[in-house]
Amino acid sequence: MDCFFCKIINKDVPSKIIYEDKSVLAILDTYPRVLGHTLILPKIHAENIFDLPDDEIEGVFKAVKKVAKLLEKALAPDGFTIGINHGKVSGQTIEHLHIHIMPRWLDDKGGSIHSVVNNPPKEDLDEIKSLIEKFKSKI
Ligand SMILES: [Zn+2]
Repeated sequence: MDCFFCKIINKDVPSKIIYEDKSVLAILDTYPRVLGHTLILPKIHAENIFDLPDDEIEGVFKAVKKVAKLLEKALAPDGFTIGINHGKVSGQTIEHLHIHIMPRWLDDKGGSIHSVVNNPPKEDLDEIKSLIEKFKSKI
């Protein structure tokens, strides 16, 4: 399999590793959007969160918490944006799940998660809720 993040995890490609445990490798993003921009890479190859086995989720998200705390101590940001680009349409460019941790500062001129899209639905919330609830038994 020709996966760039698997190569990083296998240490075939160098990276700036800031944390590692049995579930993840945490690396500084090669093209940081902000000081401390970090990627959490699950060690198991999964294209997205749907492909990540349930028994890996706990370890991955515990690592997200640990690394955010590490960044908080090291860099003293005012907050974080933590997120996943899931699918090409959202901006995912490498098909190996990764969680972005972006330290945030009051004067960083960035936006919230809300700023990634602004296309409010025409349907009302009750209509959307009942549409979604029809599929609850299928997950
Ligand atoms: Zn991979």
